[in-house]
Amino acid sequence: MAKDWLKGIKSAYDTIIIGSGLAGLTAANKLAKLGHKVLILEHHYNLGGLATWFKRKGGHILDISLHGFPTGMIKTCRKYWTQEIADSIVRLKNIRFDNPQFSFWTNFDKNDFTRLMKDQFGIVKETVDDFFKTVRAMNFYDDLSMTTRELFEKFFPGRTDVHRLLMEPITYANGSTLDDPAITYGIVFANFMDKGVYTFKGGTSELIKKMKKELLKNGVDIRTHCMVDRVVVDDNKTVQGVEVHGRMIPATTVLSNSNILSTIHKLTGDEHFTPEFLKEVKEVRLSDSSCQVYMGLKRGEKIDHVGDLLFTSQENEFSSESLLEPETTSRTFSFYYPETRPGLNMYSIVASTNARFKDWAHLTREEYEKKKKHLIERTLDALEKYVPDVRKKIGHLEASTPLTFKRYTAHPGGVSFGTKFEGLAISKDLPKQIAGLFHAGSVGIIMSGWLGAANYGVIVANEVDKFLHAVSQPKPELETVSV
Ligand SMILES: Cc1cc2nc3c(=O)[nH]c(=O)nc-3n(C[C@H](O)[C@H](O)[C@H](O)COP(=O)(O)OP(=O)(O)OC[C@H]3O[C@@H](n4cnc5c(N)ncnc54)[C@H](O)[C@@H]3O)c2cc1C
Repeated sequence: MAKDWLKGIKSAYDTIIIGSGLAGLTAANKLAKLGHKVLILEHHYNLGGLATWFKRKGGHILDISLHGFPTGMIKTCRKYWTQEIADSIVRLKNIRFDNPQFSFWTNFDKNDFTRLMKDQFGIVKETVDDFFKTVRAMNFYDDLSMTTRELFEKFFPGRTDVHRLLMEPITYANGSTLDDPAITYGIVFANFMDKGVYTFKGGTSELIKKMKKELLKNGVDIRTHCMVDRVVVDDNKTVQGVEVHGRMIPATTVLSNSNILSTIHKLTGDEHFTPEFLKEVKEVRLSDSSCQVYMGLKRGEKIDHVGDLLFTSQENEFSSESLLEPETTSRTFSFYYPETRPGLNMYSIVASTNARFKDWAHLTREEYEKKKKHLIERTLDALEKYVPDVRKKIGHLEASTPLTFKRYTAHPGGVSFGTKFEGLAISKDLPKQIAGLFHAGSVGIIMSGWLGAANYGVIVANEVDKFLHAVSQPKPELETVSV
């Protein structure tokens, strides 16, 4: 008989959270700590969404999205999770660039970038300082008409090498392009420049294990293998609960961590939204997806320290479009040395490229497998430049594509970073359309990545809390006046 993944759940909840990405988990923890009854429903067998890992025979543990995040994650984890989680966040100091325009190592912070831009690129210090001052001051309420391309041209006209240094890592980090609003670049870049790039000691597996322990301690009900089919909304445009495994679970609020477009069109249904809102939703563009090649070294095999994060490319200049091409030579390598998972004493390497769903979606099984093999071969060829004997050291090798990300996260197009900028307003306006329906998760470029998603989870949890307080207040009695 099939296992009942919902066995023992409560008859109703204050909040049901659809999905256990970092936004969903962080929102759940915050709401539970505020005293609300919270249920997380996740369709995968693991928690974490894209912040996840998998194990393979031979002792390999491979991380999906642990390349690096900004220092702000330490504060977020301390405030909304635990000191223990915050204490496991450590800095990666060896970031490396190698492309036809430049090749060097950096610790990826403002001081080092200032040095590089002065000494390697010959930019005057005042211009560099002015640039940093401008991006640091950028905030959500800024003018949206300026694009990142215009920002770069203003400070470093015609300097495609400087543009590449500044943009390439951020395109990998949040999928933004030179034509996106400059604030989507500025906010994320400034976060990284603050104190560099960080990772989680122990790997994603340890992080999510610790988060799960904390959620359970705070009374959150967590159910995996639960694909939510529908958000139930009544005729008054008010949330009633969700439908999962053919069963209705009542809730006062629903917070969806599923993609914003799936939340609207698939889970809720267009019939519940106003035509004006749907018109705006139509304009929302999804972000692109990714391919990855995961390489686990055989137990006992070693490699030299060749950097923690390597941005490599053979393209003459940076172009957001060329980064998406199936034949791109632009990729990042994340090197996980034994220090990443103390005790395991193994090495792994993950290569990531940005990718378009449509380049993988319509292949026959045979073409798909062939294309994946080709991706793996090209990645190994590129890696051999830095680790010459790597092929014979590898014990496990496999690739993921946009189809893999779609399958495991249910995100349309297997998106890595939700939607482009316009998706943020839609996500924020959801409760104005349907009382009690909220969304948190990668959206609008800014609210994506580990830090953006977790922080957005907190912002939306506060909105959910306000809503729950408002509906729990006794309604003022209507005064009866006798005439
Ligand atoms: C290849 C790759 C590398 C990345 N590297 C980095 C990095 O180095 N640093 C960084 O900061 N960020 C990185 N990111 C981005 C980062 O991982 C994400 O932005 C962030 O983890 C997204 O969190 P989220 O809360 O939006 O939810 P997601 O991680 O997208 O999770 C959503 C969850 O909802 C679940 N779900 C969806 N629909 C349903 C449903 N109907 N019922 C039940 N469950 C459902 C999904 O299964 C999933 O678990 C990377 C992303 C990719 C793809």
